[in-house]
This record gives sequence, structure tokens and C-alpha cells, in this order.
Amino acid sequence: MTVRTRFAPSPTGNLHVGNARAALFCYLFAKGQDGQFILRMDDTDEARSTVAFAEAIKTDLAWLGLDYDETFKQSDRFDQYEAAFEKLKAQGLVYACYETPDELDRKRKRQLARGMPPVYDRAALQLTDDQIETYAEEGRTPHYRFKLSGGAIVWNDMVRGEQKIETASLSDPVIRRADGSWLYTLPSVVDDIDSKITHVIRGEDHVTNSGAQIEIIESLGGNAPVFAHFSLMLAADGGALSKRIGSLSLADLRDSGVEAMSLNSLIARLGTADAVEPVQHMATLIDGFDMSRLGRAPARFDAEDVTRLNARILHDMEYGDAAPRLADMGAPEGAGFWDGIKGNLTLFADVTDILHLIKGPVSPVIEAEDQDYVVAALDALPQGELTEASWSEWTQALKQSTGRKGRGLFMPLRQALTGQAHGPEMQHLLPLIGYDKAVARLQGKEG
Ligand code: GLU
Repeated sequence: MTVRTRFAPSPTGNLHVGNARAALFCYLFAKGQDGQFILRMDDTDEARSTVAFAEAIKTDLAWLGLDYDETFKQSDRFDQYEAAFEKLKAQGLVYACYETPDELDRKRKRQLARGMPPVYDRAALQLTDDQIETYAEEGRTPHYRFKLSGGAIVWNDMVRGEQKIETASLSDPVIRRADGSWLYTLPSVVDDIDSKITHVIRGEDHVTNSGAQIEIIESLGGNAPVFAHFSLMLAADGGALSKRIGSLSLADLRDSGVEAMSLNSLIARLGTADAVEPVQHMATLIDGFDMSRLGRAPARFDAEDVTRLNARILHDMEYGDAAPRLADMGAPEGAGFWDGIKGNLTLFADVTDILHLIKGPVSPVIEAEDQDYVVAALDALPQGELTEASWSEWTQALKQSTGRKGRGLFMPLRQALTGQAHGPEMQHLLPLIGYDKAVARLQGKEG
């Protein structure tokens, strides 16, 4: 049996980090078992779903590095949902209801006032033909509910352990609206059966749905998949993430310049007892992923943690992994440049600023009290090709000849050569700046 998981977003908005977690878990779990990961677009809400959001979801997944083996959209499968609906209807498991939303709301309020749970009372099952005719004359069209068995549904959840849902305590789920459109429940089940999904991995907000969905799957002759319902993710201060969708959308994170692996490293471990580690490659995350490590407490997400991990990922990144992007940025070839500067990066894009220090134009900064020192430094600059050894030779010689040391020895040189008080180690920068530019800058010339 090939493990098959699916990530099933609705293309009605941008993905946020909570969605990324669902996608990542589905991906890591499937790939950890040589399985397949499927992207399903839950676009039955035709008014709110857009092609642009669907494209944006694909862009976000590509950025995260979550390659899917197959993709399809629910709006291409209305015939299959219709057929499943008829199959359930033929078994007497679907019934027509005529209540308006207002009537349902009043019913719920009356139940609550009487201290009863607001469970749908199945009044529609008692309607006489006359009443149905009257509704039809009033122009009411029915919505449809799935008739739950009233028994207990039990499954062994990979995250939550044994789960038991008493369907008698639930309202029969509405599966089709009065305008004929589909709610999420039935299409999802039909797709999970047809696309041979073996594991449904999703947030714990779907636990109750799973009870009804298992009954529907079985009524349709399918086998229930294994379920894993992971805890929800909260903002670091305990607030709901979805309220801040704007600031935590994947698009925003991507635009902020962080590495996708920083986000992946964090969200793969949040909500587990395992420490968050900066992980360079997806293969390592796949190897280290274990669903049983997920706890039931909410996972707390702090965007600052992504930034911190990002720096650690860059500091550990091998030249080979960085090389294609460095080449695009016009950085000098070879591991020397990367190894010399990576420790100074917070974001990969900082490379641009460092390249600017090397290539110029840089406006040298030479303080009045350092003028003579910089003139002496120019005289002492090793002639010809500068190497990684040049900086220490040069500054050792200057230390001897001028008696300067520490900051007073190094800082004027850094400021003259880069125009900045901070930056990567000069030992690495000096050979990259090169002899001619170094001379010009020590003479105070922009270059
Ligand atoms: N479209 C559903 C959602 O985004 C999918 C849930 C599921 O994974 O079954 O909530």
C-alpha cells in the first residue's frame, strides 16, 4: 500500500503559517514512507474561490519546497459528488430540509434557553407531503442533511490516540445547500476515497467532522483512512493566528527574505517536545519527522523565531547550496567569499550589501585624527595581489610601526576601506576589494 496524503486548501485567500504546517506534515509524513503527496483545491465555493489564489497557493508550496505528485480541483468533480449524493439518498441517508437560516437560528436559541444542546431535531423527517408542497409553493428549495447513525464512531488517531464521537450528540451535517452547491463534507470524502488517500492529516478543528465523514465513507463503500489531527497553532502571545493572517501569510514571510527552510524547520518541530534545530535540507526534515512526537497542546508560533533560525541556517549553509544564488547576484566564485561572509548574514539578501562593500562605489570614512595613520597604512599595504594572509601581515606591521592596537589599529582601516564601522572580517574582504581599490580608498577616493 502506497501512503498517500493530501493537502486541501480552499483557494479563497492566501496561505498562512497554519496552512503551511498542515501541508508540511502531510508532505513529510508521505515522503518519509516513500509515499505520495497530493494537492487538492477545495474550490466548491465558486463565489469566493479564485484562480489567482489557487496560483498563489502553488507559488507558496513551491517556495516551501513541498512538491506534490498530483493535483486536482473539486470544481472539476461535481459529477462524482452528485453520484455519491444519489447513492446516499438511495440508502435513505440523505434527507431534504426546508428550514430557513432564521428558523434554524430560532430553534437553536430555544434549545439553548431550555438548557438543551443545540442539535438539529430532525423535524424535516416528519414533514408531510402537504407541508412539503406548501414549502414548494412558497418557493423554498430544500437543503440536504446526512442522517447520522446515532451510534459511536471510534478511531485511533495518530496524534490524539483513541477518539470516540457519539453521533447522537451531533446535528446531522448539511451536505448540500438550497442552491445545490456542496458543503465541504461530502466532496472531501468522495475525493479521499477516489484519490486513495491513506492518511488524512489535518488540524484538530476537524475532529468532529471526522466522525460524520467516517460514517459517510462507510456508507459509500469506502475504507476510512487513518486520521491524524494535530493541535492548532497560536500566536506567541496565545492569540489566534488566523486573526493576523495578514502579517503571517506565507507571501509576506517570503517577501521578508527568509529562507523557506527556516520556516519549515520551525513548524516541523513546534508542538513537539523536540528542540527546534536549523535544518538545511528537506531530506533531513523528512528523516526526522515523527507524527507521534506531536503533542496535544497548542503550538505557539513566533515570527521572530523564523528570523533567528534564518541567521543560523545561513551561518551553517554550505557553499554548494548557496552557489547558484551567489552567482545570480554576481558574487565572486569560490567558497572563500561565502565562507568569509556568511557569518554576518541575517538574510540572504544581505549579500548584496556586502558585495557593495567590495565592488563599490564606497565613500571612504577617514576621521581627522586618523589621517596620518591611514597615510602610513597606505605605505605599508602589501604590494600586488592581496590574499587572506595580507590583512594580518599588514596590521601586524602597522602595530609595530605606529604602536596602535585594538580598535584604534583596525577601525580606521575598516572605515577607509568599506565606509562602514561594521561588516564581515576584513581578512576576507581585503583580498576581494583588491589592491587597486584598496589604494584608492585609503587615499580617500570614492571607488
Ligand atoms: N478545505 C478544508 C480546510 O481547509 C480541508 C480540510 C481537510 O483537510 O479535510 O479546512
